[in-house]
Amino acid sequence: MELRPGHSALVTGGAAGIGQALVLALARRGVFITIVDFSGERGREVVSLAEKEVAKFHKTGLEFPPVIFVKCDVTDSAGLAAAFEKHVETYGGLDVCISCAGIVTPIMFHKDKTDGSKSWRRAVDVNFLAVISTTQLAIRVMEESEKPGVIINVGSASGLYPMYADPIYSGSKGGVVMFSRSLGFYKRRGIRVNALCPEFVQTELAAKVDPKFIKLVGGYVPMEMVVKGAFELISNETKAGACLWISNRRGLEYWPSPDEEEKFRVHPRTTRRKYVDVAPVNIQIPQSFEKIIVHTLSQNFRSATSVVRTSLRFPLEANDVLLKIIYAGVNASDVNFSSGRYFSGGSKEIASRLPFDAGFEAVGIIAAVGDSVKHLKVGTPAAIMTFGSYAEFTKVHSKHILPVARPDPEVVALLTSGLTASIALEKAAQMDSGKTVLVTAAAGGTGQFAVQLAKLAGNKVIATCGGKDKAQLLKDLGVDRVIDYKVEDIKTVLKNEFPKGINIVYESVGGDMFDLCLNALATYGRLVVIGMISQYQGEHGWKPRNYPGLCEKILAKSQTVAGFFLVHYARFWQQHLDKLVDLYTSGKLKVSLDPKTFLGVHSVADAVDHLHSGKSVGKVVVCIDPSFGHQSAKL
Ligand code: NAP
Repeated sequence: MELRPGHSALVTGGAAGIGQALVLALARRGVFITIVDFSGERGREVVSLAEKEVAKFHKTGLEFPPVIFVKCDVTDSAGLAAAFEKHVETYGGLDVCISCAGIVTPIMFHKDKTDGSKSWRRAVDVNFLAVISTTQLAIRVMEESEKPGVIINVGSASGLYPMYADPIYSGSKGGVVMFSRSLGFYKRRGIRVNALCPEFVQTELAAKVDPKFIKLVGGYVPMEMVVKGAFELISNETKAGACLWISNRRGLEYWPSPDEEEKFRVHPRTTRRKYVDVAPVNIQIPQSFEKIIVHTLSQNFRSATSVVRTSLRFPLEANDVLLKIIYAGVNASDVNFSSGRYFSGGSKEIASRLPFDAGFEAVGIIAAVGDSVKHLKVGTPAAIMTFGSYAEFTKVHSKHILPVARPDPEVVALLTSGLTASIALEKAAQMDSGKTVLVTAAAGGTGQFAVQLAKLAGNKVIATCGGKDKAQLLKDLGVDRVIDYKVEDIKTVLKNEFPKGINIVYESVGGDMFDLCLNALATYGRLVVIGMISQYQGEHGWKPRNYPGLCEKILAKSQTVAGFFLVHYARFWQQHLDKLVDLYTSGKLKVSLDPKTFLGVHSVADAVDHLHSGKSVGKVVVCIDPSFGHQSAKL
């Protein structure tokens, strides 16, 4: 939500500490505010400070109702409900609700000999139960007004890890965190509930904590950082059911990290099932078919390969599947494969493998299955990421079959290109949010997904490309800063506009581009080497390049240069493919296909040349069987 004058917010605990800072920061933006607090005197002081902040908006002609103060203990549900009523009556709706009221436990738990009513029960009431009531009231009001809303529940870092000195405070704040995270689904109704978890901030509440402990965690977190965190949660539309941890040691960081979250995520079986609920298609199996083989090792794909006709032999091996290929994906590394680079061993050993089948990825229809294959149905769509995809048919072991909903070209794009972006950003780049991410060759097959996934995760994204059409595509995909290197100098833009450096680089061009990106990397930055397309087709083949000073540079700034090769992450393919398909079908992820048409296996070499011409925009795909391509569109 982009806050503007005239929006309205209700803040509990707004008369002091973090609540007060948030009230004043909102007032500075011209937001109409209700402060709910049990301290009348301090509440009125904050009202007058907030009134001063909003006074400047009077000049703009905007009718400005007074800041409201409601004296109320947040544990009093009726009082709280009345405060919401008054807010809506006065301001006509509610855009932001912040639960900030909180107390430390009045008697230390291990010394508490009472029944808890005035100590730990009171702390749980204020810190947790009142947050539930406030959230419930805010949701009701927001739903009634049928406008989007943001609810921020102020937890604490002690809700993320234990605080031994005050287990009740820690437990109640942990409750706030899990409660807020569990409400992520309200996003569907336009309401985003998030938790804000600062470490110690210099307030009256923190003054009750042992200073030694505060020193141990790196001192007080500046109030501005907490305010920045709250505004991040208000403005970042992708975050719902999120928890933002704020610490001096790590800055603003969403918790849990995508890696941690993945450990707990359950992938419902139903996601899989939808892939086979497609009307089966009848396939006529011919006696022979055409495919592309590599007959000579060369990085010149055209001279390395030829189209051959081969006969289809039956019966199939018990665990094999025969796939009729409809679309095959073209990849920059097809030229590395045709030069034998992906096989280990000496040149003689590699040459002894000739001829071998080319092509890495395809979608099609299952044409036949071996006797032991019970879980796959003939006539249903499937994808493969195995060698031999530049062919009209291919036989693969059933374990290599990835069930998909449709045999469409967009699904091909999600395979090598989409999966590389998705898995590399998570595993090698360790991407979270709030970072600056740079993607090179960003309008290409894999780059287009890297920019979108980085954006979806809540990052600022910079993308490089060469050409007007590519720059336009990247702008349409939501990139924050597109650098068309045919018009602007990448180095100058990065130096002038991103002086603090880049946190994550998704680099696939190599050579001088790698050097440039490394020099632009921030302290602690991670540069992921995805590829080095500029080196693949050198006049005399691919020459390894030296990067003088690499160790010195990364050491001086505690940086990481990580390699990523998709083949090593096969165990994550299905899970990430499911995620990408979900994002694509729900409209959150776009797939851009290069507009040039390539039909049949005979056009594959043209398609590979096109990708390496630098002119392609989006994913290059070959339609292996055009007649089937039309049919499958109706599936
Ligand atoms: P792609 O990005 O669609 O490749 C085409 C783009 O690359 C062009 O539009 C151009 O972009 C750039 N380019 C082409 N030739 C170039 C050259 N000689 N010098 C500099 N830039 C050139 O191809 P892709 O298949 O998606 O692959 C992109 C990169 O990712 C490659 O390096 C590839 O090896 C790598 N990759 C790695 C993995 C892995 O597992 N590690 C998996 C998939 C892909 P601009 O001119 O607009 O920059």
